Amino acid sequence: MPVSVLGCCTACGACLPTCPERALLPAPRRPVVDVARCTGCLACIEICPAGALVGGTAA
Ligand code: SF4
Ligand code: SF4
Repeated sequence: MPVSVLGCCTACGACLPTCPERALLPAPRRPVVDVARCTGCLACIEICPAGALVGGTAA
């Protein structure tokens, strides 16, 4: 399942380059997940310092 970005996201941008599918798209308030591309690999969840990414295959 795709990941979701929670409101506690600080828009730090750290997750964007971690996604091998380029499914995290920059946006003004917080990244937008391209659900058609996200494989739920969890790479972004592990890197997020705010714990703002949830879901993926672990959910
Ligand atoms: S779970 Fe993987 S594929 Fe999905 S947005 Fe995060 S890094 Fe990209
Ligand atoms: S790494 Fe976490 S806090 Fe930073 S932009 Fe991505 S979701 Fe938001």
